[in-house]
Amino acid sequence: MLPLLVRRPDRPVIIAGPCSAESEAQVYESARQLAPLGIDMMRAGVWKPRTRPGSFEGRGAEALKWLVESTRPLGIPVCVEVAGTEHVELALKAGITAVWIGARTTVNPFMVQEIAEALQGTGTPVLVKNPVNPDVDLWIGALERLQKVGLTQLAAVHRGFSTYRGTPYRNSPNWAVPIELRRRMPDLPIYCDPSHICGSRILLAEVSQRAIDLDLDGLMVEVHPDPDHALSDAKQQITPQRLGALLAGLIWRRPTATDLDVAHSLEELRATIDRIDHELIDRLAERMEVVRGIGGFKKEHSITILQHERWNEILNDRAAYASGKALTHKFLRDLLDAIHAESIHQQTLIMDGRTLDEQQR
Ligand code: PEP
Ligand code: MN
Repeated sequence: MLPLLVRRPDRPVIIAGPCSAESEAQVYESARQLAPLGIDMMRAGVWKPRTRPGSFEGRGAEALKWLVESTRPLGIPVCVEVAGTEHVELALKAGITAVWIGARTTVNPFMVQEIAEALQGTGTPVLVKNPVNPDVDLWIGALERLQKVGLTQLAAVHRGFSTYRGTPYRNSPNWAVPIELRRRMPDLPIYCDPSHICGSRILLAEVSQRAIDLDLDGLMVEVHPDPDHALSDAKQQITPQRLGALLAGLIWRRPTATDLDVAHSLEELRATIDRIDHELIDRLAERMEVVRGIGGFKKEHSITILQHERWNEILNDRAAYASGKALTHKFLRDLLDAIHAESIHQQTLIMDGRTLDEQQR
């Protein structure tokens, strides 16, 4: 079999299937309806990590057989979630192709280590969901534990991060985290699970496109033949038909241009960006030099570092100056906040009689 989990530029990898394997009929129907969409792998949970007790916790080991037997004649690989050694053993014995480690397991290095050791020597492809908290090192740590036992077919799944209310998402995407993972592990495929990020069907297409635009390698989507009656995660699951429409609407963008003219124009524009960034840094350095001068003056005359009237004046003046320049309010405010924080920091060092070099050491 071709390696399943490798970065490939030609098209996104699509993993789809129900949140849970609920019955033999539902599993067979899912596989039958997903096959014509040309998905790369079917997914279904057989042991479900539920937040509160008393919810549907999966059909357990008997469902492994349904998954293997329904997908085998269709030539579709199949993956399930494993949260411990026993799950690994049962899944592999049943002939499951790949496994994923869920968000609630990735947070626990003991469990990940046990799972890694149970998988050692099997060559099983493993998908690692992000931990529930936005900790990129913990995510990388889990992947490293799998690498250390010799597993090479690995991928990460970005499924968003827990928050306490206040976002339109079930799990906030926090895109900076998968971006940092890509920077640290550039060869690792990273898929997006828009279903668990959204928690509903509403933003699914938008989040999927965003993932592709950020150079993620594919999607893991929860798909159910009758989503409204699903036994878990009903609100976020879609029908196979709707998945077909979602995929047809996706624009597949890649990080490099294949057309030489396009690549050349891009290079020219980037050279301009490089020059502007250098100018920005020079101007910021100049600004900080003036800031340090003012710091010395304030120290000499016992004037406070912060004068809120001045800070308000700066905010108002810069907002007015920026108006009509196509910069968002949030960006301008974040930028001014960062510059202001650094100015205060540098003046504080002057007040304390310390140098920047001393502090950076
Ligand atoms: C799932 O994929 O059904 C699941 C439980 O995911 P997560 O670990 O991302 O919550
Ligand atoms: Mn789910």
